Amino acid sequence: MIERSFVMMKPDAVSRRLMGQILSRFEDKGLKIVAMKLRQIDEDLAKEHHGEHKEKPFFGGLVEYITSSPALTMVIEGDDAISVIRKMVGATNPKEADIGTIRGDFGMDTGRNIIHASDAPESAAREIALFFDEEEICDYSMSDNAWIY
Ligand code: ADP
Ligand code: MG
Repeated sequence: MIERSFVMMKPDAVSRRLMGQILSRFEDKGLKIVAMKLRQIDEDLAKEHHGEHKEKPFFGGLVEYITSSPALTMVIEGDDAISVIRKMVGATNPKEADIGTIRGDFGMDTGRNIIHASDAPESAAREIALFFDEEEICDYSMSDNAWIY
């Protein structure tokens, strides 16, 4: 089933100049970028996005991290995109994430874990609506889709 996921390269990914390499992984896999915006996330938005963790001891640090400098927000589309992207992202703790995953290859610390990706269809819909207006999401077909699917 064709799905859309909300994906964000966190401030460490942007500041470490990892955007191109990470974006290439999604393109190489055959996924489709349908929206993308580099933006500084403010405190209210960071708190709303990560609301499920508001009681956790790391919440304050998480909000500080996410708002510290610009992040690259995206909507990525593809067959079973939500679970495929989570697999590409790897475990929350980059030390435990498999080598070959984005967190496993680029990170060392849970508090600087490079990237966010939606974990289910419900959270994807919520997160996409939080970060993008419907008209910012591009509906287009790619000529090579017949060779990927
Ligand atoms: P995931 O991003 O893999 O879905 P969670 O939803 O559990 O992970 O946590 C959201 C984010 O909160 C993580 O990506 C990470 O940035 C941060 N986080 C989670 N656990 C910790 C922790 N123990 N210490 C610091 N930051 C954490
Ligand atoms: Mg999560």
